[in-house]
Amino acid sequence: MITSAVRTLATELTGDDLPAYVYDLPALRAHARAVRDALPPGLELYYAAKANPAPPVLRTLAPHVTGYEVASGGEVEHVRAAVPGAPLAFGGPGKTEGELRRALTLGVERFHVESEQELRLLAGAAKDAGLDAVDVLLRVNVPLASDELGGVALAMGGRPSPFGLDPEAVQRCLPLLSGAGSHGPLRLRGIHAHLASGLDAAAQLTVAAAIADWARKLSERHGLDDLTEVNVGGGMGVDYAHPDRRFDWAAYGKGMADLALRHPGRTLRIEPGRALTVYCGWYVTEVLDIKHSGGEAFAVLRGGTHHIRTPATKQHDQPFQVLPMDTTATWTRPWARPAVREEPVTLVGQLCTPKDVLARRVQVPELRAGDRVAFAMAGAYAWNISHHDFLMHPRPGFHYLDT
Ligand SMILES: *Cc1c(COP(=O)(O)O)cnc(C)c1O
Repeated sequence: MITSAVRTLATELTGDDLPAYVYDLPALRAHARAVRDALPPGLELYYAAKANPAPPVLRTLAPHVTGYEVASGGEVEHVRAAVPGAPLAFGGPGKTEGELRRALTLGVERFHVESEQELRLLAGAAKDAGLDAVDVLLRVNVPLASDELGGVALAMGGRPSPFGLDPEAVQRCLPLLSGAGSHGPLRLRGIHAHLASGLDAAAQLTVAAAIADWARKLSERHGLDDLTEVNVGGGMGVDYAHPDRRFDWAAYGKGMADLALRHPGRTLRIEPGRALTVYCGWYVTEVLDIKHSGGEAFAVLRGGTHHIRTPATKQHDQPFQVLPMDTTATWTRPWARPAVREEPVTLVGQLCTPKDVLARRVQVPELRAGDRVAFAMAGAYAWNISHHDFLMHPRPGFHYLDT
């Protein structure tokens, strides 16, 4: 449900002020606090900045998170500047030597190393910088038994993957890490895995247990006393078809507390992105035109998937709410207001491509030119994953409500 602050602004903005992204920061704050409160105190919560790196979002989360997971040199610079002093964990495939050197200069707290070569590049860069204790987590494709997720397809782990290291590659990395054979500048502090996304709490707990067990076995087998951290990744599920069905943080927190008891002396860490910020943002726009073609209704909206690519990439209907605009000022033209009633309508944007669809054949009581449409769940992987310059339409406005 749209929050009242967002609704008020959405109806007050003029057509030319639209489309607009509207973020409800008090709602984000309340959600982040509730998530944090559901988790055991010792569990570290990092926010995966790639979900939404807008500085007001990063800063609103700051009191409720332990740190930020960043996945490029750009994100390292950006998050450092937006929330100075917050711990950063630098992950992501294909880190360049330049990015690694810059991250060391900026004092990045944790490196999630994804390959043997990357480990060698980081060791060389750390040596050149005169550093002797750079903290590394190896990102591992922890193998999962095929039945462990109850049939949920794995996005990133347990099968061939460009991300992270297979277990055999981990073995080959150990001699390059202090506490594991070498006296080089890199310390093996833990294991990182991000195996799947869109999992519910029970599936997440199963994956977390598998990762923690794998880390324990590795540490016992090789006497790795410094391996005290287990980052089990992000990917907590959200449901675009049912915005009110939220990830069960209470059950997850309870399960993670149990897992922590089974792994004394180890720090457990998670790094969700989407499930933290998706609910705080709305993409608000207006209906420009309504028409019928081949017996189907189409509503053409100001804006489109060049601003909110989420429904195109995920092939879903972006959830939305119609905000009827009934003031006489809304419709001053001397012809009948284009409208659909009690009929499925497909909501499209202004792009000259059939892929510019935000929601398909959705039943609405009524939708008219001039009405506002507020797309929900636009707080993560929305604006920042979109191809803004395609067709050169104006950019949306950005409103960070905080009262
Ligand atoms: C994208 C990503 C995350 C966050 O995933 P969400 O689905 O947004 O929770 C966490 N860790 C890594 C390594 C990622 O690539």
